[in-house]
Amino acid sequence: MTSNSHPFDLRGHVALVTGGNSGIGFGMAAGLASAGAAVAIWGSNAARNEEAADELRRHGQRVLPVVCDVGDEQQVAAATAETLTGLGQIDSCFANAGIGGHSLLVDLTLAEWRRVMRVNAEGTFLTMRAVARHMIERGGGGSLIATSSLAATEGVSRSSHYAASKAAVGALVRTLAVELARHRIRANAILPGAILTPMSESTFTSAAAEQRLLPRVPARRWGVPADLAGIAVYLASSASAYHSGDSFTIDGGFAIA
Ligand code: NAP
Repeated sequence: MTSNSHPFDLRGHVALVTGGNSGIGFGMAAGLASAGAAVAIWGSNAARNEEAADELRRHGQRVLPVVCDVGDEQQVAAATAETLTGLGQIDSCFANAGIGGHSLLVDLTLAEWRRVMRVNAEGTFLTMRAVARHMIERGGGGSLIATSSLAATEGVSRSSHYAASKAAVGALVRTLAVELARHRIRANAILPGAILTPMSESTFTSAAAEQRLLPRVPARRWGVPADLAGIAVYLASSASAYHSGDSFTIDGGFAIA
């Protein structure tokens, strides 16, 4: 990890954000780049990766777009190698790529359960395993962060597969916080609330959500990807050097209201 005099100064730091071409991942990548970090963004859509990388470069840092399906073991290995060739190291890893799911349990097929688990749970495992191996070999410590969800801790109807995948990554990071501490690698989870992104927009902009859900958010607005920038910088930076195994709820107060 870098040891700049200001704890939130990320110059010399390399961050990896999976799903960094859109929504929450893009908001975190923008925050990291604006704090001085070089950023690799992984996504399966090459055109979206390039477009997002061009926007992120406006912060003046190196940005490396990498095409990768995080549910594919070989693609994760190749993307890790490409990232290390391009940027030299990975100091923080935001395993954020994810997909939604919407089905009653009684209608849920095994194929749909596996589709969501493959990206959200297996993708996080494969990404963190590849990056942890690099961090251990390099010997400089690091920070692993998973994007979980309030769905992991609250009851959300029609989301059993999605919620289970997000609970899985929460359990994964708590294990890694213990297992990898001896390598000075910390692991934490972020639980976003209702954040307006391409994944969620149609749900949250419906009349029903505006009338019934929004009034239950104490901040009285939906979150936006930029609301995740600060926590990303904190977790990448040396300011969080002694903070591991935790969950950060970023939801405008929704969960406790
Ligand atoms: P989003 O805008 O749809 O972004 C999803 C990102 O994941 C995209 O960059 C997408 O890139 C990437 N992705 C999807 N499948 C992938 C795969 N197989 N391999 C690599 N990348 C993949 O949605 P978002 O709302 O920002 O979601 C980001 C994370 O936050 C997800 O894990 C989601 O579950 C979580 N979350 C969101 C909310 C919310 O309210 N929005 C709340 C709680 C948690 P490509 O399309 O290029 O693959």
